[in-house]
This record gives sequence, structure tokens and C-alpha cells, in this order.
Amino acid sequence: MSLLPKYSLGVGDRFGHQGPAQLDALILASRQGIEIAPVWNKSHREHTITGSRPADVEAEARAAVQARRWTAPYFVDADHISLKTVDAFLASSNFFTLDVADWIGVDAGSDCVDRFIAREERLVGRHALPGLDRPLEVSRPALAAAARKFLAAIREAGRIYDRICQAKPGAAPVIEVSMDETDRPQTLVELLCILAAVADEGIPVQTIAPRFVGRSNKGVDYVGDPAEFRQQFEDHLALIAFAIRKFQLPGTLKLSVHSGSDKFALYRPMHEALKKFDAGVHLKTAGTTWLEELVGLAAAGGDGLEIAKEVYEASWQRFDEFCAPYASVVDIDRPSLPSPEVVARWDGETFAAALRHDAACPAYSPDVRQLLHVGYRVAAEMGARYTAALEKYAAPIAAYVTRNLYERHIRPLFLGQEARE
Ligand SMILES: [Zn+2]
Repeated sequence: MSLLPKYSLGVGDRFGHQGPAQLDALILASRQGIEIAPVWNKSHREHTITGSRPADVEAEARAAVQARRWTAPYFVDADHISLKTVDAFLASSNFFTLDVADWIGVDAGSDCVDRFIAREERLVGRHALPGLDRPLEVSRPALAAAARKFLAAIREAGRIYDRICQAKPGAAPVIEVSMDETDRPQTLVELLCILAAVADEGIPVQTIAPRFVGRSNKGVDYVGDPAEFRQQFEDHLALIAFAIRKFQLPGTLKLSVHSGSDKFALYRPMHEALKKFDAGVHLKTAGTTWLEELVGLAAAGGDGLEIAKEVYEASWQRFDEFCAPYASVVDIDRPSLPSPEVVARWDGETFAAALRHDAACPAYSPDVRQLLHVGYRVAAEMGARYTAALEKYAAPIAAYVTRNLYERHIRPLFLGQEARE
């Protein structure tokens, strides 16, 4: 089985141009003594919108690794795939994120639930979880309710996993199970049930992406109480350590945090929790790099700024179309968005200041940022004109991309240091 290192970063890239710049951030971390594995992730949804193919991501990752002489492991993640979409990713991925959120709450049949409960009878009772100041109480009704809610989803994950194994015999890729894009966070008993069922299915899961408390919107800071998040994060870390032993799951099993970029309020609490449990983490950050591209284009002025304005105007006009696929992970206050007529008069600095994620800057607008986050379809529709601009302004954009990942994400989360602008 390919083992996912303790720390890993999802460095997806909408248009396949920032591979080396993203890798540079990890090289800076490695010079500080922290090894973080890059995972190029791109979902079926993103491929559909940008018109790319899974093989393009693999080629980008390979080229970036060669360009920077990266010798440590790297991965290509078939992000958020289902049984319907997995086939296109089989040849070019060594990491698969099985998204079974749509199967949550689907009836697995009472036979299946009864068999599960009979098999997992041992889970009913009180368990001391090292690192937690209270025991985990598992009642039979709570376990049965969790099984009814999640068993069908995990059985579906088993079907996707079987499909991957049949198509890639002996490959033993990294497997993630994700259920983050759902409306409610999973409870500890639910997570226990999920991991028991994953083990029953024989899925060698190495990362699990639950839905966390609060709201993790795309490209903007966490909405919720960081102390509450930290408590839940620690609960999950304790439970995962317990589940690894109890169910003989891979020792590398760790949490995966989706919509993980820009959660500046959470990185220090997460860092402290990871230290406390000596645990690893996987953080998915794809969207933030696309936004840094736009910051770089806007700040460059000229045709770069024109492109940024066009992306904004079209996103503003096609608001519903762009936001719909991201309904559970964006939250835009529509009346707060400036009209395209206003934005048309902005200079590069003004545009960049509204977009850059600097909460201390009065010009920063989380609404503009989220709208542009989902607006990458416009850049995709520009085709060669957009990618030519990425090449024209490659150096300043790369500097933004690297700095954003290293100074604002890697430093606080992985190094436990203050973020820097
Ligand atoms: Zn996700």
C-alpha cells in the first residue's frame, strides 16, 4: 500500500500552471525541517468546468516534481469521485477520494443494519479515549441510528474501492472517504460507526473527511467558534487513534480537512491539537491558488486586470449558475457585492485589495472573494487568452501563490508559527 506521509497538502490547481510555485512552498517547509507531501487534487466537478482531464493533472504534477527535483513522495488525487465518475481517473491517480455524501441517509436495509449491529456489539458501552477527558459512551440505539444513516454510504465506498482494485491490481493507492459536503457534522458515535463499517468493507482508508462543526466556506475564513472546532477536532483525533487499534485500520489514518484553505482562525488550534495527539493531517487547499492567480493578474494591471474584471462581471451575472454546485460551501451576501460598473472603475490595487484574504484590510470583501472562487468557469471559457495571461505574468503570480501557501497556511498549521503577510 502506498503510505501517505504524516503531513500532506492538497495543492490542486484549476488551470495546471502553478505546480512548481506550489511545490516551492513545500520546499520552504522542508528547509524548516517539516516534510509535507504534495497531493494534486482535482475533482470531476472541476474537470467538467475547466475542460481538463485527469491525465493533465498527473502530467502537471510530474512536470513540477521534475522541475524542482522533488524526490519525496507526491500524489495525484481523484478528488470527490463516485462510482459514476471514477473510471476516467483510474489511469492517472494514486490517491482516490471516495465521495459518498449523497448516500448518507439512504436505507441500507434492515438485514444489513442488524448484521452490522450484531458484529459490532462490542462497541456498545463506555470507552476511554486517551487524550480525552471524558469517555465515549456508545448506546445501542445511537449505534443503530448511525448504522441506518451511514451503512449504505460505506457500502457504496466499498463498491468504488472494489472498482479501483479491479482496474489497478496491485497498485494499492491512497484511499480517502469523504462526507464533508453534507449539511450536518457527524457525531463521534457516527464517526466510530463509519470507521467500523469502513474496516468491515476492507477499505484501507488513510484519510477521512468528515463535515466539521461550523461552516468552512470556500476561500474565506472559518465561520464558527474556533474553540468548538478545536474540541471536535481533538475528539476526532482521539477517536481515530482508537479506531486504528480497534479495527486494525492503517496506522497512517488521519483527518482530511476539505475547503481547508484560508481557515486562518483554525490553523494554530489545529496545530496544537495535532501536537497533543502526535497526529498528522491532510489539508485540501485548491481554490486559494486560483484566487492568488487572480490577485496576481489584477495587481499586474493592463490586460491582467481586464481579465480579472471580466471574471468578476460574468460571475456576478451568472451568480446562481456558479454558486449552485457549491451550495453547501459558499455563503455570499449578495447585496454586499459591488456591481460590475463599480468594479470596472477599480485600478489593480483596489481589485487586489478587495480580493486578497487580509481581514485587517478594510477593502477586503469575503463576498467578492467567494464569488470569484466559484467564477473559475469564466477563466476556463476564455481558454488560451486566460492561460496566455498566466504565462505573461507567471513570475508575479508564482510569488503570490508560493507566499500564500507558505506564509499563511504552512507556517501556522504545520510549523506552529505566526502567519506572515
Ligand atoms: Zn471536499
